Amino acid sequence: MKLGGPCFLVLLLLVAGCNARSAFDPTAAAAASEALVGQKAISAIESTPVFDADRAMQFVKGIVAFGPRPIGSESHKKVENYILSRLKGIEVEQDAFDVHPTEGTFPVRNIVAKFPGTKDGIIVIASHYDTNWPLRNETYVGANDGASSSALLLEIADQLRGKKREGYSVWLLWDDGEESMRLPWYDPESLYGVRHLAEKWQSDGTLKKIKAFILEDMIGDADLNIEKLTNSTPWLEDLVYQAATRVGYQSHFFAREAQVEDDHQPFLDRGVPATDLIDFNYGYNNVFWHTPEDTVDKLSPKSLGIVGAVTLETVRLIDQR
Ligand SMILES: [Zn+2]
Repeated sequence: MKLGGPCFLVLLLLVAGCNARSAFDPTAAAAASEALVGQKAISAIESTPVFDADRAMQFVKGIVAFGPRPIGSESHKKVENYILSRLKGIEVEQDAFDVHPTEGTFPVRNIVAKFPGTKDGIIVIASHYDTNWPLRNETYVGANDGASSSALLLEIADQLRGKKREGYSVWLLWDDGEESMRLPWYDPESLYGVRHLAEKWQSDGTLKKIKAFILEDMIGDADLNIEKLTNSTPWLEDLVYQAATRVGYQSHFFAREAQVEDDHQPFLDRGVPATDLIDFNYGYNNVFWHTPEDTVDKLSPKSLGIVGAVTLETVRLIDQR
């Protein structure tokens, strides 16, 4: 968002400190959270896969080591292969097609890893993995923007691998061609991967099986404050906050409100319940966003761990609905 779209398009509204923070009593909240975990939630939480934050951080470093990864580049191909190499033994759907923006013809490659569950329905957890084509000749590696969330999904894949899932099927989606082909953001030449998949899944009947679409974007910032999104599906947004509270991390959630159009938008537009876990204030006034300053040293394994734990707890709560 330029203040406009991180990996997205438009931040129409960003109100700092509008709710939770101003009324937040850390001592009382911590006590309440501990009481909740101690009295009723502990067995449920123990059954949730454990998220390894340090390993997730290693995946971030693994992705950025390839350098800038705009669509159509050699390094993009290497990142595709890196992700696929981590998914051996898992059912993978590859959605490959070309796009034709004014800048030329480019390949777009979505990767979907499928973990079957016992309930009829699908929870999609998504992240884009490309970096901006207009920044292709800069030392821009998108450590937070694209790599952090893609690494989070790789760690979730390792947690789900080989375990029987009591609940909905979980599909992990590394989507491609999210970033705009122009800066500032240009709507018609962006969100290629998710637009293609939303259309494809609508025509083959998959879309109506999707119970929730959870997008992750810019979730590695050491100073983590996930926005409360006014354009996400309200019940799902509420469930994310409930999950954050249950695992004791609610102070990192929803202190600000924003309206963000991101990779979840084509699914929202088709009536799929969707949300976006995003911290769109990366450095003072978002100064690191879409710049060579978006590097691993600005991130923290703790932030990856917080968002990983909240995501897994959200999945568990959706399973129970
Ligand atoms: Zn971006």
